[in-house]
Amino acid sequence: MIKKLELTVQMLSPLWAAGAAGKCDRLHETGIIGSLRWWYEAIVRGLDGCYACDPASESRCELSGKEKSDEERRAKLCPACRLFGCGGWKRRFRLVAGAGSTEPFTLASLFYKNKSNEDEFNRWWLNEIFESNLADRLAFGKVTLTFIFPAGTDGEESLNQIKALLSVMAHCGSIGAKGQYGFGQFAWEGKTKLETALKDIQSFILGRQFKESKNENDWYSLEKFWYINIPLMDDNAQIKRFEKARLEQEKSIGPTTGKLYLPVSFDIRYKLKGGGKWSGLRQAYYQKQFEETNNDKKQTEKKTRLIFGGQWHEGSDQHRQGSRVFVSHPYKHGPGDENYKLRVWGFTDESVAEVVKKELQNIFGLNDTPEYTTGLSLIAKLQQKNREGYEHEV
Ligand SMILES: [Zn+2]
Repeated sequence: MIKKLELTVQMLSPLWAAGAAGKCDRLHETGIIGSLRWWYEAIVRGLDGCYACDPASESRCELSGKEKSDEERRAKLCPACRLFGCGGWKRRFRLVAGAGSTEPFTLASLFYKNKSNEDEFNRWWLNEIFESNLADRLAFGKVTLTFIFPAGTDGEESLNQIKALLSVMAHCGSIGAKGQYGFGQFAWEGKTKLETALKDIQSFILGRQFKESKNENDWYSLEKFWYINIPLMDDNAQIKRFEKARLEQEKSIGPTTGKLYLPVSFDIRYKLKGGGKWSGLRQAYYQKQFEETNNDKKQTEKKTRLIFGGQWHEGSDQHRQGSRVFVSHPYKHGPGDENYKLRVWGFTDESVAEVVKKELQNIFGLNDTPEYTTGLSLIAKLQQKNREGYEHEV
């Protein structure tokens, strides 16, 4: 029997659902599916040493077509490939995404986007990522997601995995592409508790046979995960600066007439000006590395790019690393919501999270250092629950 999961999510920051051309002129499901798979892989890798392949690597799962039974086929697949498909094995669902209404909105930066005496990188970035993707090309508001599980494809269990996965993403991640730049924050009323969601994924994996192999150390994994969710009061001085900037044509991105606006993640992620001093998460991390390497600029640049993403050369080799730190735009739950929320998360050592915490306190003038939750603490809770459950059964 065909199974269906239909749900509506409320986008709290725009959904970036770019297609192959990189533009968001309609909702491309591939970007959403890509983000679902990415999160699923990371979660799986953190659970009891389970393996999830890197679909871009040589060692990705693949079926030869010579397998004789479904059992044999499944034993060659990691949980992510089993659900999302790979060579020789179909994805367990189809997704149809629609934006019911897209509301115009503005992003506010403290930088001037076209002033020639501004840092060229800032101008390039603001134009490339935001201005050239006009506001109405990004979905903001209600988005409907319909997951269709064809008959004979483990519909029920696949449906439960998607529910659990979306719940995790709603609690501490994002959906669609470019989460590191602030996109894809969403609210979903149907989400389950974070612990329940992780438990559902764990139960599925532990109860079945999958391909066994070793995860690479630098792959994104729940074991390296941490997240911070903090409220930011409407009268916060830094928020007020954004509010003011939003009314300046030269600083606002998108129509200045829109009722909705968000302070742009860019400034928080990279650098903020204020009181003759630079701040910002990348800037703070760079500064710390600079001190730790005894002012070695090259080493500092490399270390910073390993965490915040970028390219660098070593001899004749070119390296490229995606960001390991993700920063939301400060967002509200709706126009009636007085205060903002900010979500920052990463897949790094806790030392990076410590720098981020301190810098957030500094940027927003918070009384206390914000708390973070680590993937390791979530895993420990799951293990504790499993032990208790086992003792109960005995
Ligand atoms: Zn795989």
